[in-house]
Amino acid sequence: MFIHIKRQILGTAFGAAVILTGGPALAEAPQIKTQVAGWYRIMVGSYEVTALSDGYLNFDNKLIQHAAPGEIAKGMERSFVEKGESIPTAINAFLINTGKKLILVDVGTAKLFGPSLGFVTENLRASGYDPAQVDLVLLTHLHGDHANGLLTPEGKIAFPNATVMATEAEATFWLDKEKAAHPPKELAAFFQMANADVAPYSAKGGFKTFKPNTEVSAGITAVPMAIGHTPGHTGFKVESGGERLIITGDVVHVGAVQFADPGVSVVYDLDDKSAIASRKTFFAQAAKDKTLLACAHVGFPGLGHLRAEGRGFVWIPVQYAPVK
Ligand SMILES: [Zn+2]
Repeated sequence: MFIHIKRQILGTAFGAAVILTGGPALAEAPQIKTQVAGWYRIMVGSYEVTALSDGYLNFDNKLIQHAAPGEIAKGMERSFVEKGESIPTAINAFLINTGKKLILVDVGTAKLFGPSLGFVTENLRASGYDPAQVDLVLLTHLHGDHANGLLTPEGKIAFPNATVMATEAEATFWLDKEKAAHPPKELAAFFQMANADVAPYSAKGGFKTFKPNTEVSAGITAVPMAIGHTPGHTGFKVESGGERLIITGDVVHVGAVQFADPGVSVVYDLDDKSAIASRKTFFAQAAKDKTLLACAHVGFPGLGHLRAEGRGFVWIPVQYAPVK
């Protein structure tokens, strides 16, 4: 369009005739209605980091707690979320190629949470890798939306050459045989999924644990985060060549409300007081340090920064750019 306008001006200036040419009439072009593959790549120092989309779910507003009357509706409006009873919420995983190891942080849902989810391995392939190349799977925690993808929808091991790791506290809580056999009713499904996801890896000696604040692989450190969401939830600090990225797991679920007010929590926070305190501290520090973040439940690719504003924060997503 701009070219045509420019030509027209030039044409007029030089007294020449302007001929506008075009393609076939629009009515002849059927709409394609597919989307690009869900992967997006950045470099952190010499480490290549690829965000992988598992898809999205509609997060029921009734699961949000500690919001003031009208706060959810206001947050949705300010974030341009379509009015309704739920907020579309992404599920993202992050693949790190250190040059020596291929490490996947969280693995999505497999196909257990409905048709809008379960695309991590498909997008991993689309991004140029194969699940068999993954050396290490690091789990932020053992909830199904982060761990179900350890298995294919048919229940087979999805990453045949990978060791799977989670924190000791997370494994102790969810994988304890006694607790798993008699879980509180509201957590029964969570216990069932966590145990089913990990069992085939454990059976071949492929499941290991780590303690907080330890370097789990060169340049990747487990940092306590979203404490209270689950007993052993962790984030991962990725450092290379003086650059840094923090993979946050579930420090935030519904950005439309929780960035402006980190005092809002969701029912899945097992200890909501701790989760809120942890979120407030982390947001403030990340905004102050201008840390690049990779969030599991922020709109794909879930990469961006936080800016402090008033009593809350604003999420600034990364801009599309070529890989340097
Ligand atoms: Zn989650």
